[in-house]
Amino acid sequence: MNAAVVTRFAPSPTGFLHIGGARTALFNWLYARGRGGKFLLRIEDTDRARSTPEATAAILSGLTWLGLDWDGEAVSQFEQAPRHAEVALEMLARGHAYKCFATQDEIEAFREAARAEGRSTLYQSPWRDADPATHPDLPHVIRLKAPRDGETVIEDAVQGRVVFRNDQLDDMVCLRSDGTPTYMLAVVVDDHDMGVTHVIRGDDHLNNAARQTQVYQAMGWDVPRFAHIPLIHGEDGKKLSKRHGALGVEDYQKMGYPAAAIRNYLARLGWSHGDDEFFSDAQAVEWFDLGGIGKAPARLDLKKLDHLTAQH
Ligand code: GLU
Repeated sequence: MNAAVVTRFAPSPTGFLHIGGARTALFNWLYARGRGGKFLLRIEDTDRARSTPEATAAILSGLTWLGLDWDGEAVSQFEQAPRHAEVALEMLARGHAYKCFATQDEIEAFREAARAEGRSTLYQSPWRDADPATHPDLPHVIRLKAPRDGETVIEDAVQGRVVFRNDQLDDMVCLRSDGTPTYMLAVVVDDHDMGVTHVIRGDDHLNNAARQTQVYQAMGWDVPRFAHIPLIHGEDGKKLSKRHGALGVEDYQKMGYPAAAIRNYLARLGWSHGDDEFFSDAQAVEWFDLGGIGKAPARLDLKKLDHLTAQH
């Protein structure tokens, strides 16, 4: 059976809509629109200290200007916190998670001893196999009982088969002692609940995919198809930063570039369709596929943008 495609863009509202984020959104939009699927938007506002309503507004207005319409209402991740906690407790009930009462000092002492003895500093909690009858009535986090042996494998549509040794992944915290979820848990629960079938995002999240896969497996949920796209670099081949000039979609908007030219330009940043440079939205929707995404970082090239702008 060919299930309907559901993609999503999941920005953290900590600033303007970055050109890299816009490209991620575009790839998800193109993939869904070309397959009669859905493109969803989730605002990852779980980090209350860094998230602002102004940033959310800037992201929504950037997407709207770009013409990347999403299906349904934007989901606030923060508002799903009770559901995230529910899933953490379900993992606990099923024996796939455990309460860890270790203090920060104890964890630090573990790491120091491990360093001194030349062992792995990945924290191994003594509470992993503790009998709940011995649990103190104290604050605790809930950790995933991650597999210790074997491997966690990601079959990535861009990166290929990526293998993580399980002994190099610790039992990550899913629920903090104040009952709030960690980002890693929240993403999995939300993607599952929103029915996301394809996770297309920057390859800075590739390591997270391994941990997130472990949560899917603990819950017995289908793992989505991952596609981790290489980040965009500047013309000098270095990671994008302020010194590369305009990085916000709104900067390009202010400079007078038409949205259609930006869409065309962004679609070509890291994805190719033969030698075609100029194309319409309809062609991009028809042609876009994950197989055309390159493994090497794309480079910003404003001359190309100017060239495309002249044609749009
Ligand atoms: N909120 C994350 C970010 O802005 C994206 C997470 C994801 O796509 O899974 O980098």
